[in-house]
Amino acid sequence: FTSSTNDSISDRIKLVDGLLASGYDEASCISRVESHLYRKVSPHKPSPYLISKLRNYEEIHRRCGPYGRTYHRSMRNIAHSKKNGATTMCKYLIWTPANGLGNQMISIVATFLYAILTDRVLLVKFGKDKHGLFCEPFLNSTWILPINFPFWNGKHIETYEIMLKKERARNSKQDLPSVLFINLQHKRNGPEKFFHCDHSQDLLRNVPLLILQSDQYFVPSLIMTPFFNMEITKMFPEKDTIFHHLGRYLFHPSNDTWRLISRFYEAHLAKANERVGLQIRVFNPASTPQQAIMDLVLNCTIEHKLLPELSFQTSVSPKNQTVKVVLVTSLHPEYGHNLQNMYLKKPTVTGEIIHVYQPSHEEHQKFNDNMHNTKAWIEMYLLSLSDVLVTTSLSTFGYVAQGLGNLKPWLLYRLVKNKTHFPSCERDFSLEPCFHTPPKHHCNGNPIKDYVSSFPYLRKCKDYGFGFKLV
Ligand code: GDP
Repeated sequence: FTSSTNDSISDRIKLVDGLLASGYDEASCISRVESHLYRKVSPHKPSPYLISKLRNYEEIHRRCGPYGRTYHRSMRNIAHSKKNGATTMCKYLIWTPANGLGNQMISIVATFLYAILTDRVLLVKFGKDKHGLFCEPFLNSTWILPINFPFWNGKHIETYEIMLKKERARNSKQDLPSVLFINLQHKRNGPEKFFHCDHSQDLLRNVPLLILQSDQYFVPSLIMTPFFNMEITKMFPEKDTIFHHLGRYLFHPSNDTWRLISRFYEAHLAKANERVGLQIRVFNPASTPQQAIMDLVLNCTIEHKLLPELSFQTSVSPKNQTVKVVLVTSLHPEYGHNLQNMYLKKPTVTGEIIHVYQPSHEEHQKFNDNMHNTKAWIEMYLLSLSDVLVTTSLSTFGYVAQGLGNLKPWLLYRLVKNKTHFPSCERDFSLEPCFHTPPKHHCNGNPIKDYVSSFPYLRKCKDYGFGFKLV
């Protein structure tokens, strides 16, 4: 190779086969240039169409994004016009947070896809709890919603539900509001939102500023929408890689976070022959005995030979001196400790050496806490660097790790009456996050009886019977 060939190969790897734009100031986001040193090369290549859509999106964001003249003019027009008669050059989609960081990250990806599909500028309403977690994803612009955004407090904004109710009474699309709040959060027995339907999207298209709240990965709703189906299929010929590509495109650890990730990796994970990520999320710690969880984890990992059994001989001839590192992530310190003690006390039947590390144990989920979120982000990222991943059913924290890492995880099943039932875990069939609250009705109002025959690219999730995901 000549050095210029070498340079172009290394640029291709750094830019993830064209997924990322060139031209960034590398020092401002070291993880963009260094992550390929830690990650396996993805076998999933972004399609040329996806790449062209991303470059086009970046151009719109640069033109319409915060602090520019066009942004100010658009916001002024929107604020002064009660109806959508406002002539804005740019349309916006504001993402607002709900729930934990995993939920937020999967919903940001879904919202970004929606922004690309509708030529809107995505801005994220980040409080102090998320400052400094991620690099700016869009070249020469910011995605952070400015603090002086005129609708920051969300008061007096028409809601999507009201819009749907009024829909029939409207005289024309000119009566639509210029700002609309869409809450896609699921309420038990709540009315169908018809967000996956052309008629809703046709109305929404005319509203220049949408403020959206969801803690879900609602990409399946978008692909169910006839308007968007072809476009998504063209962007993603492999449908089960949407989160994988868009997550790797959007989420780059900031320099401070990256320093912690790379330091931990070098100290504990780099030299292992194999890295096993073990994500133990306990949704009801008060009513779930630790031993029951430990039994579940060991049943799964030993049965599937992800971890070796202990040997009851005092010394085992070192047939196999390979080192496996287990990265345990959990809010509770006991799981890492127990596993570590177990492998310290006795040798393994295979002779493998097992090291166990748990980076943090925050005890409980905290809200509006920057350091807490930083730890969560670091751990999701480290889990994504595993060779083998075990996650907890229903946890979006695990979904982020599997999607970024191109890993089909082993899913720990839920305990029944605090006992393991068998199988204790199963291998997932797709990298995509599960959409826990899919629509229940077709656009004509009839209930969806057979999901898979109506939407052949969706399958019931293994970890949640009401949820669906892309295959
Ligand atoms: P989910 O509730 O499991 O779907 O995941 P979320 O990420 O949405 O919310 C759980 C939140 O609890 C995380 O964002 C963290 O703040 C915290 N958390 C849960 N499990 C862990 C863990 O293993 N490590 C760390 N550092 N935080 C965790």
